[in-house]
Amino acid sequence: MKLKFQNLNLHHAQKMNFWRKIPKDFDYQIARVCKHCENTFQGKFCNHCGEKVLEKQDQTFKNYLLNLLNAYTFVDGKFFNSIWTLLRKPGKLTSDISDGITVPYMQPISFFFLANFIYFFFPVIQTFNTNLFNQLNSMPYSGFAREKVNEFLINNDINLTEFSTVYDLNSTGNSKLLLFLFVLYLLPFIILTNFSKQVTFVKYFQLSLEFVTFILIVPTVGISLLTAGLGKILQAINSDWNVEVGDAYYSLFLAFIILCFFVPAIRRVVGFSWWRSILGGFLLVSSLIVVITIYRFTLFIATFYSL
Ligand SMILES: [Zn+2]
Repeated sequence: MKLKFQNLNLHHAQKMNFWRKIPKDFDYQIARVCKHCENTFQGKFCNHCGEKVLEKQDQTFKNYLLNLLNAYTFVDGKFFNSIWTLLRKPGKLTSDISDGITVPYMQPISFFFLANFIYFFFPVIQTFNTNLFNQLNSMPYSGFAREKVNEFLINNDINLTEFSTVYDLNSTGNSKLLLFLFVLYLLPFIILTNFSKQVTFVKYFQLSLEFVTFILIVPTVGISLLTAGLGKILQAINSDWNVEVGDAYYSLFLAFIILCFFVPAIRRVVGFSWWRSILGGFLLVSSLIVVITIYRFTLFIATFYSL
């Protein structure tokens, strides 16, 4: 474990080197007084409060810009490391962070919000943002939604088309804000389907955050690239087959990908056997239908009452 940790750090340090030259002449031996807490220490960071030593080159404009970029953690490779780990080793982000290994990765919450941000650049699927048509026609509570909308149309003397435009615009905005609720809604289902006394609540929460980050990034970006690629191929062979993936097939495909992520993640984080993890994965994927429904209902209520 210790060796692994050092490895990761080394890997990370190399990445940093690639982007930004770490000056070799830094004196790690001399005693410094922290400008923030006045503690005496050696090295680049105060060992009491964590404040960084300000060096001359930190004050150049170039470094100022680099630090600004660093705040968004693209430049130091943490984003790519987080994504790579998320894809290759489901659950590892959660188990590493619970073990106190945080340096190689982005802050999980920042990673989630970045995934959230990326998701809305690829508006191909309607999992997290549901338009009015679907809200009124394909949800278990659609009857209730139609009643509310009809009432609104009559009271405000506008037609459905006008209302739809305004609604969909607001719904997109709201879904960006409400996505975090998905993490909270999924959490009790993770605990119910994969309960173990060994696992702390915080670890389950991290796992929920990692799951939703995965669901946001992979299917969206993956499907977009896949359909774009398929479109090119079909164009090349002059096929007029519609590239838009049918909703039912798409949902099945999505469920399969998510299952492939959930099972090893549960095994890694909760410590179940493969069989128990597969069972847990199936139960959790099935419960996603409930989570998505509750989430979409919240989105409908929030959007409807904000108009
Ligand atoms: Zn200090």
